[in-house]
Amino acid sequence: MPNTTVAIIKTQPQPDFDQINQAVRRALSLLGDLSDIIAPGRLVLIKPNLVAVPAGPNSGAVTKPEVCRAIADFVRELGATPVIAEASAAGVDTEKVIQATGYDTLRKEGYEVVDLKRTPKITLPIPDGKLISEVESFELVAKADAIISVPVLKTHDQTEATLSLKNLKGLVTDREKKNFHSTGVFDCVVDLVSAVKPVLAVVDGIYGQEGLGPIFGKTVEMDLIIAGRDLVAVDTVCGAIMGFAPQELLLSVKAAERGLGTNNSEQIIVKGEKIEGVRRRFLRSSEDVIVDVENFHLLFEEGACTGCRNTVLSSIVDIKNDGSLEYLKGKTVIAGPIQESDLPADVSPDNLILVGKCTKPFAHLGKHVKGCPPNNIWVVQAIVGEQAKRRYATEEIND
Ligand code: SF4
Repeated sequence: MPNTTVAIIKTQPQPDFDQINQAVRRALSLLGDLSDIIAPGRLVLIKPNLVAVPAGPNSGAVTKPEVCRAIADFVRELGATPVIAEASAAGVDTEKVIQATGYDTLRKEGYEVVDLKRTPKITLPIPDGKLISEVESFELVAKADAIISVPVLKTHDQTEATLSLKNLKGLVTDREKKNFHSTGVFDCVVDLVSAVKPVLAVVDGIYGQEGLGPIFGKTVEMDLIIAGRDLVAVDTVCGAIMGFAPQELLLSVKAAERGLGTNNSEQIIVKGEKIEGVRRRFLRSSEDVIVDVENFHLLFEEGACTGCRNTVLSSIVDIKNDGSLEYLKGKTVIAGPIQESDLPADVSPDNLILVGKCTKPFAHLGKHVKGCPPNNIWVVQAIVGEQAKRRYATEEIND
């Protein structure tokens, strides 16, 4: 694997568009000539991370629109056509995220911002797939001449960090996202990367998240833009900035093993800031606590999708914000493809909440919440009970 360059640029605190634009330009200029990948007449798909509606514009959960705007302007100046496109987490309405995060303003300013979930689907072959030989994606992904991954610097409760490789999971349909989680998310994402061949990553490291990312983590302001042609190298450098050793990032390890880039620091030339100068250890997801309630247990089985995880975590945040934490006492909430042996023996049916289609075989053992992923309010209802039904909604929670 030849040496590759990763650029790290520090911006001003709380940067405005001009400062972000300068940082993006500076990072891209340090990568040298990009005309082989962004050339006149080409369609360039810019893929932000718009996983779900965030708590606020600077929560660090989603890619800032200013970063995508700067990249789109750069792409246009090279004579290519930029299109910003995303399919949010399974069960999430991407259009709502677009509206909530300022991407609709970009649209009004003439940038093309596409909710992939509302576009025609296509099956893409994966000739070198390890776990899957094809993937359900979108026509626009197949049409794009170049794909730029624009993730956020975040920790993740399943994959330690979610960076430029993991961000590409937003190029597949909801059905395929769920399939990735049940089949094996690491190898499926690497299979996808091998098929769509992204050419560039520009990481929004202005505001990131530590702890319970990708949505409910704590905001960390880093004021960084990180860019490179090799997504594995970019993720390895981002991981180092966040305090992860290369071998802790399994997605990058697997992608490197498959020849999709390098995670060998001796092959990565860092330009701009030094890693040591900007490093800050991010709290791992496993080190974070969403709530501390006596005898409350939250169990995500291996293979639980982001959709179910987010639904459950957002439900708990809602209960917390509502001042109703006492309803969590004694409860066990389980999501994901469970086996009978995973079920706790000492929890009464009233206190056992089984979330989503995956837990349906055991619905008779507790309160089952339908859906794939379920509705947030149904999970709240199952935990809080009749009071939540009266307060929030009247829909049935059991199927
Ligand atoms: S029920 Fe949840 S974990 Fe199971 S496939 Fe559906 S979204 Fe994924």
